[in-house]
Amino acid sequence: MSTYTEQQDGIFKTVCSLDCPDQCGLLVHKEAGKIVKIAGDPEHPVTRGNICNKVRHMGERIYDKKRLTQPLKRVGPKGSRQFEPISWEEAISTITSQWKSLIADHGPESILPYSFYGNMGNINAEGMDRRFFHRMGASQLERTICTAAGGAGFKYTVGGSIGADPEDTVHTKLFIFWGINAVSTNMHQITIAQQARKQGAKIVVIDAHKNQTGRLADWFIPVLPGTDTALALGLMHILFAENRVDEAFLQEHTVGHEQLREHVKSYDPATVSAITGVPVDDLYKLAHMYHETTPALIRIGNGLQHHDNGGMNTRAITCLSVLTGQWQVRGGGAIRSNSGYLAFNTEALQRPDLLEKRHTRSFNMNQLGRALALQEKPIRSLYVYGSNPAVVTPKASQVREGLAREDLFTVVHDLFLTETAAYADIVLPATSAFENHDFYTSYWHLYMQIAEPVIEAYGESKSNTEVFRLLAAAMGYEDQALKDSDEELIRQALDYPANPGLANINYEALREHKYIKAHRPTIYPDRLATPSGKVELYSSTLESMGLPALPTYIPLQEQEDEGYLYIPGPAHNYLNSTFSNNAKHAAMEKAPRLFMNESDAEREGIADGEWVIISNTNGSCELLASVGETVLPGVVVSQGLWADTSDNKPTHLVNALTPDRLSDMGGGATFFSSRVHIQKRSETSPDPVIAAITSL
Ligand code: SF4
Repeated sequence: MSTYTEQQDGIFKTVCSLDCPDQCGLLVHKEAGKIVKIAGDPEHPVTRGNICNKVRHMGERIYDKKRLTQPLKRVGPKGSRQFEPISWEEAISTITSQWKSLIADHGPESILPYSFYGNMGNINAEGMDRRFFHRMGASQLERTICTAAGGAGFKYTVGGSIGADPEDTVHTKLFIFWGINAVSTNMHQITIAQQARKQGAKIVVIDAHKNQTGRLADWFIPVLPGTDTALALGLMHILFAENRVDEAFLQEHTVGHEQLREHVKSYDPATVSAITGVPVDDLYKLAHMYHETTPALIRIGNGLQHHDNGGMNTRAITCLSVLTGQWQVRGGGAIRSNSGYLAFNTEALQRPDLLEKRHTRSFNMNQLGRALALQEKPIRSLYVYGSNPAVVTPKASQVREGLAREDLFTVVHDLFLTETAAYADIVLPATSAFENHDFYTSYWHLYMQIAEPVIEAYGESKSNTEVFRLLAAAMGYEDQALKDSDEELIRQALDYPANPGLANINYEALREHKYIKAHRPTIYPDRLATPSGKVELYSSTLESMGLPALPTYIPLQEQEDEGYLYIPGPAHNYLNSTFSNNAKHAAMEKAPRLFMNESDAEREGIADGEWVIISNTNGSCELLASVGETVLPGVVVSQGLWADTSDNKPTHLVNALTPDRLSDMGGGATFFSSRVHIQKRSETSPDPVIAAITSL
């Protein structure tokens, strides 16, 4: 049978590779070997043929004339974007000869990989790359930029990334979307909620910003940023005080419910209202609604965990979600991440044994700027793939200062000459996911999926796995693990008896069916993966780490430059920085807006539609004021990570302002815990933002 790439025309099943929980089934339409249309796969059991606009227009990105076709080497100052094409042979030999000499002079830890999930394909995002850097003994990267705090808070409470099956939520009667703009970041959960709404379900949205999701809610509850723990504790106070908890569930399935019952007494509605900004009456109304409605589901978002207290926010809401026994009801309980159901053999895929017991140093990816500024044992080479740290990393201006170091040998493997690649010594062209072989595991629905290359590699671009095989050969690494094919990598990852949920999933079956659901025998497991096997409302593990054993409200850190609480949220038409440099998507997103309350705007003398400068001790950026009632007084919100303008200026770089402090649990990012001052920009003429971006 001919491969997809050999077939010039036709419609081919594949999967969306973006870092989005929905992981849609796609149909790619080809004519004369080129993609002419990308649509949803109507046969996909969860996503059912609907996809977002980002990916509907993905063809514009795949064939964007700015896409890299050849390796490049820098010929001008760092950041100047002056490069000239070179061959792959020269690129690989330049990189490996630099690395060999760095390893000889300074050891392998002078080299640091930097990556994240620009492409969610498992073997490309966390397969051959891990093997290569383990074999080398390079410095390690703690990949904690996204969900680490929430993941930790959830895990300490229920043991792992498991929750309700989204397919069951068609039966749900109450949806509480908490800290998630699901319309933009989990659209199929909204589709299911809308379907359930026709059967009488209600949608409640709790958020610091009345965004696209808040606007469709039956009831939107604004909350002050970073006070989610207090809100959850206040609701628990009412549920316990009014005997609205499921005592049988608490007795049988939880640890610490009596301590929690006592503990929440101090979180009375008046106290909680003063902390959160939620009126006392609304606290009672929500607690009563939550107790009286079944199935009730809390969709716990990522927004509330991007705080100093992000782990605790997630943990407190998770504790709330078990009090009324909803985890035992089909369509009830909580969803934060369901990746645990599809857990695969990461040891076999990543081969940490190749480290051979060397204890290498590691760096938290949220503190890349600090890492690059190290004076003692400095990082001398950075290899970036699947990420654009000059835009996405906290304290991005400091990251750029590090990238500008003349003594830092930087390699970037990407589809585009990104803001990070502009500082590289060598740039390598990357394939898109449509050109790769890989397998995918959703962190929301329960299906594993496989993708075969649909189109030929663009220009001379290569996949991550291919590049690391080339680098390994040139470094003289003879291990078979660094020669394995993509198919072998997938097979090794799927061979995982420790997860019975994968019992019916193997390579052949995936190729035949394209998507297969993890086996999940019961709604609520017999035993959770916590130390006690139960829900740990009281966590001895956290206590031993010096953190509160019971969910406890700890305010955001005070900051010297007190100002407005600032939340840089996600955009509807971008996925982090992906698409921000594509003309179609930038045009759909229109402008980098700053949402602010009318009362604040009036005090600052700012009118709707005026350009403002927001600033703090980390940096500044320019945004377009959108004045209204979508945020509470004292809070400002932007959406999206914006590309540098055509003159290479980081004018709209929101991460210039974000802190590189780490969250209370998991070493997560604290993007949403910064404070900013706002002033009107002196000149009032509108910026040609879109024109600037399209010319990049
Ligand atoms: S980004 Fe999300 S919603 Fe859009 S196609 Fe991909 S998986 Fe589906």
